[in-house]
Amino acid sequence: MKKLVVITGASSGFGQEIAKIFNADGFPILLLGRRLEKLTALAETFDHAMVAEVDVTNQEQFAAAIHKAEAQYGPTDLLVNNAGVMLLGNVQNQDPQEWQTMLDTNVMGILNGTQIVLDGMRERQHGTILNMSSLAGKKTFVNHAAYVASKFGVHGLSETLREENAAQNVRIMLVAPGAAETELLTHITSDTALKDYEAWKATMGGITLDPKHVAETVKFMYDMPQEVNIREVDIAATKQD
Ligand code: NDP
Repeated sequence: MKKLVVITGASSGFGQEIAKIFNADGFPILLLGRRLEKLTALAETFDHAMVAEVDVTNQEQFAAAIHKAEAQYGPTDLLVNNAGVMLLGNVQNQDPQEWQTMLDTNVMGILNGTQIVLDGMRERQHGTILNMSSLAGKKTFVNHAAYVASKFGVHGLSETLREENAAQNVRIMLVAPGAAETELLTHITSDTALKDYEAWKATMGGITLDPKHVAETVKFMYDMPQEVNIREVDIAATKQD
């Protein structure tokens, strides 16, 4: 049996596609998210999978789910910290609760997951943590202030973690995708931000990334030998600015 892969935000979008590609290659998978029914429906199509209703901001819940899966499948060899939210808006009038939700999920969620698996990976001198950032983690976009803050944070914490754990042979990887039309956009409450997004999308011919290509990228990065770390990949529709 191959080693355990843990994926957060596996109930839709990138996470779901990443789960499918690892399942197709025979990996046991732990699917995490808040919508259990979606995770269960996906797991029913898989050979070896466990699901758990986990909010990544709740480290206790997160840890319990990972420990249960490890008892069945052995230690986690890949943690994909993919769960995230993007609530676009202008700082002048956005509800501060939306900033908090993004920082808690996109940054604290990654720190929570990382802390759960890191000791074991360091002891085994084997393992990979892959963080889903965004091109908004390296360049700015209007209406994205708090999201950009969270994703620049993901870039910063990932590189710090890479430096801290390289000597123990633990790989920290990061993927920075451009726009893809997943459920991510459906949570935006600002009509202005949504209108601006549609206008921006038209400038790139209306073509966004297919989540399957993000999943293939993650698989390619992980499949490199443990001694090789593809530290960061930026992937976007060719016409994106
Ligand atoms: P989706 O909205 O389709 O997926 C987000 C996933 O995160 C869902 O499965 C959701 O599951 C989960 N999630 C959200 N909040 C929590 C939480 N508190 N605890 C646990 N799970 C949570 O969007 P994408 O697939 O597009 O997004 C995946 C990642 O990719 C995010 O980090 C996003 O920032 C990043 N990204 C997306 C881009 C895009 O254009 N789509 C571009 C660049 C980066 P549930 O609701 O069941 O909890």
